[in-house]
Parts: sequence; structure tokens; C-alpha cells
Amino acid sequence: MTTLTALSDRLVGPIVLPGDADFEDARRVHNFMIDKHPAAIVRCAGASDVQAVVAHARDSGLDLAVRGGGHSVPGFGTGDGAIVADLSAISRVLVDPEHKRARVGGGATWAMVNDATAVHSLATTGGLVSTTGVGGLTLGGGIGYLARAHGLSCDNLVSAEVVLADGQIVTASETEHPDLFWALRGGGGNFGVVTDFEFRLHPVGDVYVGASMFECEDAAAVLRYFDGFIAEAPREFGGFPAWHKAAPLPFIPESRVGQPFLFVFSCWTGDHAVGADALQSFRDVAKPAAELVTPMPYPMLNTLFDDLVPRGLQNYWKAVYVKDLSDEAVAVHLEYGPRVPAVNSGMHLYPINGACHDVAPDATAFGHRDAKYACVIPGMWPDPADNDANIQWVRDYYAALAPHSDPGGYTNFASADDQVRVRDNFGAGYDRLAQVKRAYDPANLFHLNQNITP
Ligand SMILES: Cc1cc2nc3c(=O)[nH]c(=O)nc-3n(C[C@H](O)[C@H](O)[C@H](O)COP(=O)(O)OP(=O)(O)OC[C@H]3O[C@@H](n4cnc5c(N)ncnc54)[C@H](O)[C@@H]3O)c2cc1C
Repeated sequence: MTTLTALSDRLVGPIVLPGDADFEDARRVHNFMIDKHPAAIVRCAGASDVQAVVAHARDSGLDLAVRGGGHSVPGFGTGDGAIVADLSAISRVLVDPEHKRARVGGGATWAMVNDATAVHSLATTGGLVSTTGVGGLTLGGGIGYLARAHGLSCDNLVSAEVVLADGQIVTASETEHPDLFWALRGGGGNFGVVTDFEFRLHPVGDVYVGASMFECEDAAAVLRYFDGFIAEAPREFGGFPAWHKAAPLPFIPESRVGQPFLFVFSCWTGDHAVGADALQSFRDVAKPAAELVTPMPYPMLNTLFDDLVPRGLQNYWKAVYVKDLSDEAVAVHLEYGPRVPAVNSGMHLYPINGACHDVAPDATAFGHRDAKYACVIPGMWPDPADNDANIQWVRDYYAALAPHSDPGGYTNFASADDQVRVRDNFGAGYDRLAQVKRAYDPANLFHLNQNITP
């Protein structure tokens, strides 16, 4: 069995151990409710470091935590007594504008991808927040403003370089290890460590952005309108209704800060004048209490939520998929949305139709292609003393909504106590995922994730 000293001799990147000056920071992830003490954190410099960490975990029996952007709400990127493969230094982004492709290191964030591709007026579907990792987000599916236009992040994956549990490095694509490639597109980090993602890119210039804030008494009409609008909306429209407390922002009157509103966030990737007409249709339903409407570069849109969700908050989230936004579900949103307890918390109802529905239900492991929305109740707040009240709000909202939703929620929005729902959360492809797991990770080395047991 290798010792940590012997492991450290094999590594190019540094190893951070308890007692080291940067251990305290290195052991933490985005969600500060997670307070784990790993045995070691390896800042992997490349695939060979990842191979060394995987071999060490296999031989020593230590739990292996793989960390991309560290945003997992259950804190899968760390663990008590675990060895952490921190991929954040594997973050090179190479853009091939001619073939509209990008190669992205397994530890990159969406900010890095968006900045590099925007130089060529190209983009691919990423998340809403620039600091989220490409790794966890893509492997779980990947929902964002561009999903209706260009599919989920995983739908844009062309190939992946993967370090397997047995230490081999393989490429997974439609033609190489196609079963693994299928599983990587929705099955999470269950199958290996992706050190390099290859994405398809699309022409995306400046986008036309809207943040419209509606009074609670208009929320039912706006939600109903949105539900009809989004069923037929042009794919240039990416956007979603959301409950939030008004934050202190320049476009929001000071007297309304801290009050709850139903927001509609919009991103229009087509002609701006046509986008302006689409946004006008919401104003015809109800007059916004405040509104920001402006063109901006896509990478800038991707940072708008960053300050609201910094590293260090307490996080507790729940999620459901929705096929039909029933009157009962709308009533639940009207009851719990206005009670949102913290400015960082909210409810987001992400449409996953349009291009997401072009992909055959069994073409990838993303098991909820038939859903119209992925709904999330992201609870986030700064003070651990407020944990009980904030967790209770998320749980109560979820408990009221679940009977009017599909079984299962998006795995990337699930909390640590959602492992019991793992089969419903992965949905249609679960049994096939378990087969691929048996083939590639029979000993379940990669188990700090929404775990598919072999
Ligand atoms: C503030 C915030 C905003 C978010 N916004 C969105 C959004 O807009 N759309 C959306 O779809 N999701 C969103 N999410 C959810 C997000 O997709 C998940 O939290 C995802 O797991 C984050 O990936 P990560 O690499 O940052 O996290 P990590 O905690 O590093 O990893 C999450 C999981 O993926 C595994 N993993 C990560 N990288 C790799 C890799 N390279 N190879 C193998 N396994 C890997 C880890 O082992 C772990 O199990 C958001 C989360 C947060 C906290």
C-alpha cells in the first residue's frame, strides 16, 4: 500500500495535508454547511496525477472525492478522511472556431469556457452561474439559458477523456466506449474522472436580457402566461420564472428591497427587436414593479447571479421535474414563494423543452427528457444559526409541490438526504446506468456522488 508520502513523490501538482497553511481553505467546498476533514487534497496538475490519486484510493481503501468546481450542494467534492482529487488546475480551454469545438479541462468553470468561446462569438450551454464547474454540471445534464436553443450541456458533449477506476485513460464518444459515453451524459461522476471535455459550440453574439419583477398578486397570471408561452416559444428564448426577494440592485426601488416578487429572467439569442417584442408580451399580462432590459455579452449574463450565491453560504436544495404545471402546483407556488426567507434563496422553474426534446429519450442517460420543467428550490443563506428555519421552508415547499410533480428531481440540484430518491432522480435510464457502473466501476470506487450502486 502506498503512503501519502510515496503518493506525493509521484505527483506533479501539490498535495495539501492537515496542518498545512492552506488546508482549512482547501478542505471546504462552495456550501459551508459541509464541514468535512479529508486526509489529503491533491491539486492534480493533469491526468497522470488523477491516475495516481485513483490508484492510491483503490489501494489504500480511502474514500475518493472528485472535485470539479466544488458546487455540489451535498459537498461530494470533499469527505471526512477522504483523498480529494481537486481538478481545479486542469482548466485549460482550447477553442477551435473553424470546427466550432472547445476542449475543456475537467476542473474548469463556466466563466473560463464562456470567456474563451465569446472571443469567437461562440458558446455552448452552461449553467446560470459563472463559478459552477463544467465537470459536475455537464455529467449531471446541464441546464442553462441556452438549453432551449442548443440542448443540455451533455447534449453538446462530443467526447470525453476519462480516468477509469482501474487507472486506464480512455476516450469516450459515439464510436469509442459508447456505453460509457452514454452514461457520462446524465449519470454524474459515477464512472470515472473526466480530465477533458470536448464540446460542440454555436454562434452566440450579444444576447437581449430581461429581469422583470412582478407583484405577488400578479404571480398567478404571469405563471399561467409563462406556461402557455414557453410551450410554443421560439428557441431563441431561454428564461424562467423565479421567486426571489428583491436584492439591493440599481434597477430596483430602494423601498421594495427585501420584498418577495415573481421574477421572469429572459435571455434572447436572436434579433434584439424580435426579443423585445417577446418580452413585451409579459408586460401585457401585468405591469412589472421594476425591470432591467438590456443587451449584453453572454459571458456577462452568466455572471449576473454570482454575487447572490457566493462561496461560503449555507445551502440546502430540493428539486422536482414537472410535465404539467397544474392549478394545484401554481397554488403551491403562490403559497410558499412569497415566504422565501432569505435574499439568496428562491425557486426557479427552468424550461427544458425546445432543443432538449430533440434528443431521443434513450440517447443519453439524462432520464427526464419528457419533463417540461426542472423546478428547484435552492435554499441559501449566510448564518448557520438560521439553518432550521431555512431548511424547513425548503422542505415544506418541496413536500407541498411533490404530489403535483413527476417522481424525481434533477440530480444536480439534490441534497445529501436525496440519495433515497436516486432511482427516481436518474429516471428512465437507471437500470442501464447500473449495468455500465458494473462494467466500469464494479467496486464503486466513485461513490461520493448521487450514487448508482453496481
Ligand atoms: C450556485 C450554484 C448554481 C448552479 N446553477 C446551475 C445551473 O444553472 N444549471 C445546472 O444544471 N446546475 C446548476 N447547479 C448545480 C450544479 O450543476 C451541481 O452542483 C454540479 O454538481 C456542480 O458541479 P461542480 O463540478 O461545480 O461540483 P463538484 O462538487 O466539484 O462536483 C459535483 C459532482 O460531480 C463530480 N465531478 C465533478 N467534476 C468531475 C469530473 N471532471 N469528472 C468526474 N466527476 C466529476 C464530483 O465527483 C461530484 O460527484 C448550480 C449549483 C450551484 C451551487
